[in-house]
Amino acid sequence: MNVKFQFIDLKAQYDAYKSEIDEAIQNVLNKTAFIMGTELKECEANLAKYTGAKHAITCSSGTSALELALRSIGITCGDEVIAPAFTFFATTEMISLLGATPVFVDIDEKTYNLSPALVEKAITPKTKAIVAVSLYGQCPDIDALNEIAKKHNITLIEDAAQSFGAEYKGKKSCNLSKLSCTSFFPAKPLGCYGDGGAVFTDSDEPAHFMRLFLNHGQNERYKHAIIGNNYRFDNLQAAVLNVKLKHFEDEIAERQKIAKRYDEALKDVTTIPFIETHNKSAYAQYSIRVKNREAVIKKLTDAGVPTAIHYPIPLYKQEVYKSLNVNPALFPITELVSGEIMSLPFSPFLKESDQDMVISELRNTLS
Ligand SMILES: *Cc1c(COP(=O)(O)O)cnc(C)c1O
Repeated sequence: MNVKFQFIDLKAQYDAYKSEIDEAIQNVLNKTAFIMGTELKECEANLAKYTGAKHAITCSSGTSALELALRSIGITCGDEVIAPAFTFFATTEMISLLGATPVFVDIDEKTYNLSPALVEKAITPKTKAIVAVSLYGQCPDIDALNEIAKKHNITLIEDAAQSFGAEYKGKKSCNLSKLSCTSFFPAKPLGCYGDGGAVFTDSDEPAHFMRLFLNHGQNERYKHAIIGNNYRFDNLQAAVLNVKLKHFEDEIAERQKIAKRYDEALKDVTTIPFIETHNKSAYAQYSIRVKNREAVIKKLTDAGVPTAIHYPIPLYKQEVYKSLNVNPALFPITELVSGEIMSLPFSPFLKESDQDMVISELRNTLS
């Protein structure tokens, strides 16, 4: 296969910040301070400042961030946790890992995020939390979800793996609910050069627990208060993020520009992303819906335009969840969207000529 340009251009980003990133990495190498160094402290302060959250707790991945958040509120066997049926597997994987049951809820047809009305219907006496995903970089109806959580005395967790940098009614994603989790996987809006993640909260108690848990339950060196694990974020990765954070607002602005360009050029031939007027999306993905997806992808692939599908299989159809016996007929929107969705090449460094090529190939194919 002959791809003409990258789906997400991490190389162009590296080239743009190369001298700063190389210097930051070299600094860490010179100090050989690889674990919990000053760069990591600085990174957590930067992340807290950026989001406005009191605590920014870095960890080894977005997945471990979800595990930490769920553990911090005591999610365990017998509990139910509500989550969308249409998301990346990790969202419910961590619920299941802790022995709790993920309760899938269908999504909104326009935003592809959790539908608050359906969330409320899914609540039972066993429900302990809601994990609301900010899919493709757009926050769900957080006010409605916070309201539901408060009313039923349960916890709202934002899975903000795709929405670092997004805004909801002028407030930053990762600071909209009791707990929020993000990912620094390289392809996410704020990506490091390996795996990484963070949990955000204003609450001291879960923050304290998570800091202990991610470092072997240590209060002080060799003093272990609880059983934990090693979910620490690397100092080298923190150094990379500190550089990337300096340019991040510019990148978010560039994402808006490119999305708008795609919107204008494609709105008459396909279903473009629907972004609520009170939202600013981080556009982790620019995803459209097409009826004959396989044929469209084939034509684009033949023309050298890379594409991806986020996500082709609803979570309840995953092998591991077959035992939950979920009836797909109860998830009409998830069924529809998972069959039609496809993502276009997108990143702040996608050249205008490459955007034009995506647009013209797609228009050729669809009209
Ligand atoms: C990427 C992602 C995760 C997991 O993050 P990792 O850093 O890859 O572990 C969780 N939830 C969603 C919605 C994601 O997109």
